Amino acid sequence: MLDLLNLPGVQPVDLQYDEGVIIIDAQVDAAQPPACPSCGNTLYRHGHRQIMFADTPQQMMPVRLKIDRPRYRCADCGKTLMPELAFLDEKRRVTKRLVGAIRERCLSRTFHGLADETGLAVNTVKNIAQDLIDELDTTVRYETPVIMGIDELNLAGSYRCIITNLATNSIYDMLEKRTQNHMKPFFRKLPDSENVEWVCTDMWRPFKRSFGPYLPNAKLVIDKFHVVKMASEALEHERKQHQAQLGRKERLRLKKSLRWLTLKRPHALTVDEQQDMALLRQNMPALAEAYDFKELFYQIYDEPDKASAMQAFEAWENTLPESKWPRFHALARTVHNHYSDIFAYWDAPARITNAYTEGLNGIVKMANRLGRGYSYDMIRARALYADHARKVGRGSVLPDSTTTPQKHVEYGPYIPTLADENGE
Ligand SMILES: [Zn+2]
Repeated sequence: MLDLLNLPGVQPVDLQYDEGVIIIDAQVDAAQPPACPSCGNTLYRHGHRQIMFADTPQQMMPVRLKIDRPRYRCADCGKTLMPELAFLDEKRRVTKRLVGAIRERCLSRTFHGLADETGLAVNTVKNIAQDLIDELDTTVRYETPVIMGIDELNLAGSYRCIITNLATNSIYDMLEKRTQNHMKPFFRKLPDSENVEWVCTDMWRPFKRSFGPYLPNAKLVIDKFHVVKMASEALEHERKQHQAQLGRKERLRLKKSLRWLTLKRPHALTVDEQQDMALLRQNMPALAEAYDFKELFYQIYDEPDKASAMQAFEAWENTLPESKWPRFHALARTVHNHYSDIFAYWDAPARITNAYTEGLNGIVKMANRLGRGYSYDMIRARALYADHARKVGRGSVLPDSTTTPQKHVEYGPYIPTLADENGE
């Protein structure tokens, strides 16, 4: 029989099909009896044992090797022995090449899909994936970001803390929770922590308290999008108050919803929307006034330097009517509470923002598609070690299970690639 197995030390002797599974009988090549590992005497044959091992699929069917293995016994000490076959993973009852094939695929394919294809139990696939992840956690290291983003992301039922490299637009790490208990140890153990020059986060206080003591050279800048978002939310509050005042006739003449219209920036309005806006100014001057006020706040960020930005904010605040718009008043207070961290935006060498929302949505979609049965650890590994995002501009990055793992430094998975990830 032609050796289609190509496994050293065994020969295929028979092949059967059994309910969609290929079963290959294999015989171990004749060899000299081994020496007893305890006393050194030559062993004698002591029967044989048939053991099934899963192998890589063929003809799109799972493959089982039924290997007839000789056993030996020592006449002196009574020890019995079954010589090892180097290509087998004895513990899992699979060939090492099948383990390798699963390692290559388990971070991009579903465990169920791989289990169906190989005939292995889902848990076996999961265990192989877990071993790979543990290995990746100790061998792969991404370069500590000089400009670091800290954000939150609702993933697999909880808010997770996402650490990004804003200079390379890649993910650096992900923490299970965004509490100080999870963040402090992360920052305490962060390698090259002195390299971090800028940290961009939202206004959530525990972020600052968590990294403050551990990043000696880092300056905080509050993310622009979190700040201007509050102006949009304040306007939304006003819009809801005014919505009811709009007559039926006017409502019919608006081509888009009032919400859509008022959240848009003026330069982004289409010709139709500009007409809607004119209609709004005519019929709802109070809402139009609030809209202009939101816009005025956004324009603070168009200022070229810190001093003029501070002046623009002051001017904005001074024109804020005392008797109305409680949400805009709250926004003004928030800006004062985080004043230096917000205006640090103009100190940074580049305009730093966490404007990678689209890409992070890619991770959320991936997690949702996987659904239940995937722990946070697995989702994190898929986001952090997904080959397709990591190999942007590089070769394959999965460690080979047969070589000694070596540390190599890279930048982490590229967020735009994660954004259009479409796995199984
Ligand atoms: Zn012996």
